[in-house]
Amino acid sequence: MIAVLGAGESGVGAALLAQKKGLTVFVSDFGQIKEPYQKELSDNGIEWEQGTHTEERILAADILIKSPGIPETLLVKKARQQGIEVLSEIEFAYRYCKGKIVAITGSNGKTTTATLVHHLLKGAKLDVALAGNIGDSFARCLSLSDHDYWVLELSSFQLDDIHQFKPYIAILLNLSPDHLDRYEGEMENYVASKLRITENQDLNDYFIYWNEDDLIKKNLNKVKAVKLPFGEQTSTTGASLINETIEININREQLTMTIHELALQGKHNTYNSMAGGIAAKLLGITNDIVRECLSDFEKIEHRLEPVLKVYGVDYINDSKATNVNATWYALDSMTKSVVWICGGVDKGNNYEELVPLVSKKVKAIVCLGADNTKLIKTFGGVVDVIESSNSMEMAVKAAYKLAKKGDTVLLSPACASFDLFTSYEDRGRQFKKQIRLL
Ligand code: ADP
Repeated sequence: MIAVLGAGESGVGAALLAQKKGLTVFVSDFGQIKEPYQKELSDNGIEWEQGTHTEERILAADILIKSPGIPETLLVKKARQQGIEVLSEIEFAYRYCKGKIVAITGSNGKTTTATLVHHLLKGAKLDVALAGNIGDSFARCLSLSDHDYWVLELSSFQLDDIHQFKPYIAILLNLSPDHLDRYEGEMENYVASKLRITENQDLNDYFIYWNEDDLIKKNLNKVKAVKLPFGEQTSTTGASLINETIEININREQLTMTIHELALQGKHNTYNSMAGGIAAKLLGITNDIVRECLSDFEKIEHRLEPVLKVYGVDYINDSKATNVNATWYALDSMTKSVVWICGGVDKGNNYEELVPLVSKKVKAIVCLGADNTKLIKTFGGVVDVIESSNSMEMAVKAAYKLAKKGDTVLLSPACASFDLFTSYEDRGRQFKKQIRLL
């Protein structure tokens, strides 16, 4: 019997796959299960409970599938002690997957790069699906059909309970502090969990990594796969950024493009394109197709998304920037004077890293959060104008007044959204709505 803890997208996906494979499944969620998921489980004849965990039933399972949102609770510990195999949904699905996997993780850029790699493989007319932390879960997609290739976006939590999961290509984009609350405040634990993406790889597999990241480089000796770096000047294989040109060298073939030809702009996105380009070349995709796909890729919502130009002012929605590192790259890529909208739920942010960029690029700040004191304290002496707001309407109106023709208004909060919004998507959509009302 399989017990599934947590009935979100991963848990429900795992239950559907288990049932499809003829296994008996029981789903248990301590909170309330969303209506559509309740219905889906019932419609498929899967037993479920909510608001409680019936221990006897869960501990009677042979396999326990733990959703990524669930920490190492007492119940999970008990299950382990009793010898029940505890798996993540990714591990469970992997056991039924025959396709080749390109798995992508990192602190920032996962969705962008996963979507780009999917676009590249589609462009080459390969049979490929995109799943994981993005959209539908891996298990759900696999319960419908297998594919020759899978592009998986993976968070560190999804990597926590893998055992045999072995991607053909693993991409590690970067490592910056995030979610440390789940890793006992230890960066080392977080790094170790991200690096698990490589743990079952061997010399027939590939590991693509950002060569500018000291933490990744420090841990490279643990990786058995063929290592392919991307960054400024790398070794002969991998991808290098030389002045304004990217150079990808794989299997004695070379592809060069200028950064102006790339659809994704900004330094962080150049790196994402390089990582995607290496993966595509490893899969034998021709230079022409790689070039075409890297230049016709459509921007993704809420990630440095240009919204509108209003009276000569550009408005950019980067609501997905929920940490300081993502905002650093957003500010770095700005070419005009910026009115910066920032703030929200602070996850223990260190804003000091942004001070040099802010003093160079930002003319005014509009803080948008329930509590703006830390932002005002850090940046009050750095910019001439700093205002507080507590709704998107107020923030956009304030920014509109402050911006002059030729400026850019950038929403890149560096914070989570849950104080004033339901999600970063809600925050981004409200931003766009208020701009259209100007
Ligand atoms: P994730 O799925 O890892 O959260 P996204 O692609 O959704 O990543 O991007 C999240 C935020 O990080 C966006 O604001 C985006 O502009 C920024 N970002 C994207 N790629 C990178 C990168 N390689 N390094 C730093 N920031 C990035």
